[in-house]
Amino acid sequence: MTTEDIPTSPIQAPNSPTRYSKHIVLTTYPGQSGVDPVPLTWGAPDAKSRGPIVVSRSGPLLKRRNAMGAHGGSYSIYNALAIAAGDLPPDFRPDFRNSEPTFNFPWQPAWADKTKIVSMDPYGHDIVNQFREELDAGWDIRPTMAITRANMKLAEIEEALRKGELEVDGNIVVDESGEVRVTKVAVEPVWYLPGVAERFGVDEGTLRRTLFEHTGGSYPELITRPDLKIFLPPIGGQTVYIFGPPERVSDENVKLALRIHDECNGSDVFQSDICTCRPYLAFGIREAIREAQNGGSGVVIYFRKEGRALGEVIKYLVYNARKRGGDTADKYFTRTENIAGVRDMRFQALMPDILHWLGIKKIDRMLSMSNMKHDAIVQTGIEIVERIPIPEEMIPSDSRVEIDAKINAGYFTTGKQHTMEDLANVRGRGWEKWEDVTH
Ligand SMILES: [Zn+2]
Repeated sequence: MTTEDIPTSPIQAPNSPTRYSKHIVLTTYPGQSGVDPVPLTWGAPDAKSRGPIVVSRSGPLLKRRNAMGAHGGSYSIYNALAIAAGDLPPDFRPDFRNSEPTFNFPWQPAWADKTKIVSMDPYGHDIVNQFREELDAGWDIRPTMAITRANMKLAEIEEALRKGELEVDGNIVVDESGEVRVTKVAVEPVWYLPGVAERFGVDEGTLRRTLFEHTGGSYPELITRPDLKIFLPPIGGQTVYIFGPPERVSDENVKLALRIHDECNGSDVFQSDICTCRPYLAFGIREAIREAQNGGSGVVIYFRKEGRALGEVIKYLVYNARKRGGDTADKYFTRTENIAGVRDMRFQALMPDILHWLGIKKIDRMLSMSNMKHDAIVQTGIEIVERIPIPEEMIPSDSRVEIDAKINAGYFTTGKQHTMEDLANVRGRGWEKWEDVTH
């Protein structure tokens, strides 16, 4: 049976109106009639010789696609919902007028190095310029990065100004209210599968099969199209916050302060005090601003990897197990492993890509204690000069359990190293003050 013979879905009522053709193309095969992917050479020296990433299945592009998955990362599903609901025409083409970057990041050798960047499109911000002809011809090609500027305001920065720990300079910190100018870069995931497989030390076939099986068989071309090497996965991306002139980020002659921060919505936004995430994020932003004010550069990169990429449901289950089982630091990781099977799914192996894209060659002040982040960065050839732990006074008391367990497991500290016996005595707050708790 060829794909043309696949019958109409039984789910669809025989006479219901549809915006799609009668036959559903479940997958494609290399060498199949009309299948002719647009040439794409990952690691090419410029966007034009690399070629556009074409992932759309609309019309004739179905046979010319050179990538699997869909644009938008985890939001690709909302895009499909908007089409299903009739709010968005399936053949909609965006009008990109005036959407171009507010700053043109200079080309870096890493953009043309298929070992240095494997999880984002290094030309993803410049699609409109580079592939204007194809866009004008109606091709559905989309940016996977966007660069803008903004003003932001943080209570902790206002407090730092009040305490005299930071100063208003009129340019980076605009005024006493703590208003700060920032350049932001949003990045959606674009995976070059051979490169991703290599980072994880598995063969490409195993990676493809596993992605296929454990997404409910959602992307059959992972199996049927070994010639397609690009996959846009349905996961969250990352955002770069740059303090000070963005051209300084890649300048080796000035100092760089940098924090890599993985999402923790409960703490970052709602300021739950069970962990050190928001305090460390605020400290990272403060130090990034300070470095920029000193003539250097400050960068904070925010990765959508909620709860160590285990998600909030797992995270709250673990919180419950911790609080009900006696919340001590010696049992901290075991509680997560009992429920998630692992203690962490963030896999820092892909994280350094963005640093190489920015042209970072050394990090003078790394605002992180994570050994996993540190090792991942230095393994790709970026030097880390100094590691800065979160100051003791910024650690909420209930989060001692987390931070001490992490230090014991290898996190960087300039303070005390704990034994397992010490950790058994580091206890978090219980639920005693909650009426519904039964002991
Ligand atoms: Zn947290």
